Amino acid sequence: MKNYDHIVVGLGTTGAFTCRTLAQRGKKVLGLDMHAPPHDQGSHHGQSRSIRRAYLEGTSYVPMVLRAWELWRQLEQDNRQQLLYKTGNLTIGPPESPALHGFFKSAEKYQIAHQQLSATETKRNWPTLNLPDHYVAGLEVEAGILRAEKGIKLALLHGTSEGATIHTSELATGWHEYPDKIEVHTTKSTYCSETVLFCADSGNLALLPQLAGQLSCRRVPVRWVTPENPGPFSLGNFPVNFWQVPTESAKEGEDYDEFYSLPILPGDKQLKIAPHNHLAPLTGESQSATIDTKEHEHLQKLIKRYLPSMAKLAPIHQLCRYTLTPDGNFMLGKVPGHQRAFCSVLGGHGFKFAPVLGEIFADLLCNQSPEFDLSLFDPTRF
Ligand SMILES: Cc1cc2nc3c(=O)[nH]c(=O)nc-3n(C[C@H](O)[C@H](O)[C@H](O)COP(=O)(O)OP(=O)(O)OC[C@H]3O[C@@H](n4cnc5c(N)ncnc54)[C@H](O)[C@@H]3O)c2cc1C
Repeated sequence: MKNYDHIVVGLGTTGAFTCRTLAQRGKKVLGLDMHAPPHDQGSHHGQSRSIRRAYLEGTSYVPMVLRAWELWRQLEQDNRQQLLYKTGNLTIGPPESPALHGFFKSAEKYQIAHQQLSATETKRNWPTLNLPDHYVAGLEVEAGILRAEKGIKLALLHGTSEGATIHTSELATGWHEYPDKIEVHTTKSTYCSETVLFCADSGNLALLPQLAGQLSCRRVPVRWVTPENPGPFSLGNFPVNFWQVPTESAKEGEDYDEFYSLPILPGDKQLKIAPHNHLAPLTGESQSATIDTKEHEHLQKLIKRYLPSMAKLAPIHQLCRYTLTPDGNFMLGKVPGHQRAFCSVLGGHGFKFAPVLGEIFADLLCNQSPEFDLSLFDPTRF
């Protein structure tokens, strides 16, 4: 049996960056993945991911995302490659929507450059966004989008060159914690280490029975469209736009549909649109269908109403997934009841944090305290 200081199960968003940071700190680390990241069988594919700092999901995220922004820029400099493109980011909805409240709370607390725009002002700037008259938009001026797969590729390259051992096409099947070590079993072998991090996205459901009933895996049907005239949707002309709008059947303030669209990246032709909530469970059976009729009709209705110029464009569909906790916040920390096993669950908004999560888990696995308040993300909170 081979011995390591640390084992990382899952080499996507969290795993690639944690392996890299541990290797940079001189640790003997083994990274395992059932596929060969980046790939399109997890949660990190589809080219682009938004990064914003006026964090509508809660102020606790802001210090982490501020550090992540610095680290993305550092990674770009080290590789002389652009990963982060500034686009601006709009949060759109009726004034009382929780998303707008969260946006302004974070922006004000951390003095993040932002503006409040009326529906008229928003439509004047971006005529393709069709806001009802009483809606408002919170504009984060400096937000952007990241090249997701490229980021993971670079992190794994760095990790390997710093000495991390990377095993792809190797499925982790189980593990056992002893007082002085931990063992991880795979389809090929058994490995031993001081600590292990499980950041296997939907794979965490099978690997962590301690979290049974708390994690759910959801289908995210992503739609790509190619505008005839890409100009108004290209970088610089079109911000990331996230919408939180009352559902058709609900009275305002009761239930919301959430969806977003992202601008076209340089060198690309397609614009991305996807729903963010009311997602169907991802099961063995539903995994093969990129989109079903119900999902298509629901998204099409939202697009027709709020992004009408995109409704006529023939879509290409792609399936992605969210692995969610009951409250939608991350799980970052020790697996409940264990001392040497740690877990990461990010749900639908974790990519932007990848490099800071590398630092956080490198600290936790080495028994050091990260510089962030992680109490909101405690895996024992449910
Ligand atoms: C359509 C879509 C849009 C998104 N947009 C944004 C956005 O704009 N901004 C943002 O910040 N976030 C966004 N997210 C969320 C973000 O992408 C995820 O939170 C993040 O990628 C999850 O990272 P992860 O490390 O948990 O999982 P992944 O990156 O999926 O990595 C998990 C890895 O574990 C491996 N694995 C699974 N089981 C096993 C096993 N048993 N043994 C070995 N390996 C295993 C998988 O092969 C995979 O490589 C979006 C997600 C989707 C689906």
